[in-house]
Amino acid sequence: MIFLVKSSDKVTVYQVNFSLGKDVRIQCDCPAGVFGKICKHKIGLLLGEVGLLADSNQADFLMECIKKLDGSDILKVLNELNEGERQLSKIKKICEVKKKSLEKLLQGK
Ligand SMILES: [Zn+2]
Repeated sequence: MIFLVKSSDKVTVYQVNFSLGKDVRIQCDCPAGVFGKICKHKIGLLLGEVGLLADSNQADFLMECIKKLDGSDILKVLNELNEGERQLSKIKKICEVKKKSLEKLLQGK
């Protein structure tokens, strides 16, 4: 099943191919994803971000495809990645607050 996704420039359309046979393969033809690397289109579609779809009629089918991956290593690792990203953004915020504090201290405030 091929899903068409909008790129961040809103003009280019990429193809994300979900192959959900015995061996699951998900490929994207964007510059980042083309060599098998993870890209925001693969991740976004796996997370069910239907807003990425160039054709909103594909939304239901996308959700069906994701459901087929229930209990798979793909969703397990995706969730772990998500949790890592969440912690990372929390830590980044803490660092920003500490930088501001240090900035003030270095200005004698
Ligand atoms: Zn991509």
